[in-house]
Amino acid sequence: MVGGGPAGLATAAEAARGGLRTVVFERGHALGEPVRTSGGSFVKPLRALGVPSRCWHPVHRIRVIGPTTDVTKRYRRALGCVLDVRATYQWLGQQAVEAGAEIRLKAHVDGALTDGGRTVGVRARDPFRGAYEQPARVVVDASGHTGFLSRAAGMRPGNERSAVGLELELHAPGYDQDEAVFWLGDAISPGGYGWAFPVGGGRVRLGVGVVRPDSDAEPRVLLDRLLAAFGALTAAGSPVGPIESHSGLMPVLPPAAAQLVGNGLVSVGDAAGQGSTLLGEGIRYAIDAGRLAGRAIATGDLASYPREWRRRTGRDFAIAYAVNTRICGYGDADWDRVIRRLDGLSPRQAAWVFATDFRLRHALGALVTDPSLVGSLLRAALGRSVGRSGSES
Ligand SMILES: Cc1cc2nc3c(=O)[nH]c(=O)nc-3n(C[C@H](O)[C@H](O)[C@H](O)COP(=O)(O)OP(=O)(O)OC[C@H]3O[C@@H](n4cnc5c(N)ncnc54)[C@H](O)[C@@H]3O)c2cc1C
Repeated sequence: MVGGGPAGLATAAEAARGGLRTVVFERGHALGEPVRTSGGSFVKPLRALGVPSRCWHPVHRIRVIGPTTDVTKRYRRALGCVLDVRATYQWLGQQAVEAGAEIRLKAHVDGALTDGGRTVGVRARDPFRGAYEQPARVVVDASGHTGFLSRAAGMRPGNERSAVGLELELHAPGYDQDEAVFWLGDAISPGGYGWAFPVGGGRVRLGVGVVRPDSDAEPRVLLDRLLAAFGALTAAGSPVGPIESHSGLMPVLPPAAAQLVGNGLVSVGDAAGQGSTLLGEGIRYAIDAGRLAGRAIATGDLASYPREWRRRTGRDFAIAYAVNTRICGYGDADWDRVIRRLDGLSPRQAAWVFATDFRLRHALGALVTDPSLVGSLLRAALGRSVGRSGSES
């Protein structure tokens, strides 16, 4: 496994559990360090993946602030959550070690070993072994945004479009730890969005993301503006200051642009563009894809991995990408319209949109309760016309 992020660690655990000798190469000095992600996610799918609840901070309200609009959806049972990224990745590492995988830290992979077009191992270096070659029956590219092995093998295009994110983890004890906020509109984040994700213990991740090359806005400038807007959400006079700075890139690939299985090489996580391009959520998908890939490698049925992955995410990711390309050009009037439409959805229906969950049975359920809601849901995702009023669920 090239990369010890959620994709590589999840793949390693399953491959090792299936009886394979498995090595993870992670160039960093520790799993989950440095943090490059905001960790926003959803409780139900994380539980389904077995991630322990100590790894996340739940939120009961999701608020969306637009240029002149402001909508809050409330959930009796927490729907959204913010992951303790280090704890989650290190828990995934523990799972891999328990399954018998070997994790090498400060281990940098420079490239693939190939033989007649087939990947047969990697060239690596680390402080203990120096430079060396590691033969392998299957190499997994879990290197994240660069996906450098998959690109070199022609399994995916380059990163023509990428989300660029910049975030401060703040000590902000005067902020309400039960509310996650998204900001939309030109003032805070043209062609992207701003966020405030509480993580517990009086800390909040405040960040902005924009898509390149669609937007040339400078994240540092936007984050300064967001800090000013954030001040209005904290108790008067309470302190606000940065404790950590996080930044990173996420690929925005068209669905199915990446080939997941090549000749001796398997691609997972951001390396294969397996995050939702709607809100830039990738961690739970990377874990899920990694487990599918690891199982497929262990059983020798490699084709099962792309087949099952496309079955699980094909429709949702296609809709997410269509929305993404559309909203990148939105201006303030468009955002106000979308937020008004979101206001018209019930909290549960809004949750499907937030979580990139466009299952047919949701549309059918909406059709039974109120036929006009099917259109509202799709339009909320794609951005046209207004729906009806929502209430607490
Ligand atoms: C700013 C930002 C905010 C985000 N916010 C969210 C969010 O709120 N919620 C969410 O779910 N997702 C979010 N994401 C996306 C999420 O972080 C990714 O989808 C997820 O981390 C993908 O996991 P991965 O294992 O594929 O890649 P990564 O987590 O990037 O892991 C790749 C690993 O490979 C290692 N590596 C790379 N090259 C080499 C090499 N040559 N040799 C050895 N090791 C190597 C890296 O050090 C890294 O540890 C965000 C992303 C960014 C950039």
